[in-house]
Amino acid sequence: MSNGRDMRELEPAVARLQAVRARIVRACCEAGRDPGTVQLLAVSKTFGAAAVRALAAAGQGAFGENYVQEALEKQAALDDLPLVWHFIGPIQSNKTRPITENFAWVHSVDRLKVAERLSAQRPRGLPPLEVCLEVKISGEASKGGVSPAELPALADTVAGLPALRLRGLMAIPAPTPDPTAQRAAFRRVRELFDTLKARGHDLDTLSMGMSADLEAAILEGATIVRVGTALFGERNYGNE
Ligand SMILES: *Cc1c(COP(=O)(O)O)cnc(C)c1O
Repeated sequence: MSNGRDMRELEPAVARLQAVRARIVRACCEAGRDPGTVQLLAVSKTFGAAAVRALAAAGQGAFGENYVQEALEKQAALDDLPLVWHFIGPIQSNKTRPITENFAWVHSVDRLKVAERLSAQRPRGLPPLEVCLEVKISGEASKGGVSPAELPALADTVAGLPALRLRGLMAIPAPTPDPTAQRAAFRRVRELFDTLKARGHDLDTLSMGMSADLEAAILEGATIVRVGTALFGERNYGNE
């Protein structure tokens, strides 16, 4: 994970962060939204602690990770910084303990067994784990996610778990260059979100939009955009 690329990432970190923030502000203007209602989550998977530290020095405070072991190593190397860590990757049920012990947020809860374990294993001294349910939209890019049909029942049960706080939904629609298609997929997520709110759930978080489609997501109501490539550069999985 530690390689020459980290050093090359240091210099453009500020410029990339400013460029992504400018995209968020522009999309908020177009949507008639206050830019303060959209949080930027920097997705640092495959990038080392030095790249995270550079972005943190530029003012970024929230980081998303997909792989438990990689995340724990980075967190240990950065524990002098007041960073907020979000887990956004697929969750194996035998990995729930390190996740709930070391993260403030989890965006990728998609089944009850995982939610129950995250709650039961949350350390007593910590505040409730902030949770989004990952919902599967047609043409899903990731394998995970609860189906829209099963979402209401899962939300009802997760909302009752004592050490979790249900905040909203996350989705990863299939990538498409067509802005109309991007918006249609994000709109479906927002409609599911509205349905849950109408059911009585007190939700405030729509985690959707990545480097290639954050504008469409913001136009459809995203409150967290998860951005990796546009902040850190292309990922090279061979270095993991
Ligand atoms: C990797 C990843 C991202 C970031 O994707 P980019 O296209 O690099 O911005 C966002 N969300 C999830 C769940 C991811 O796995």
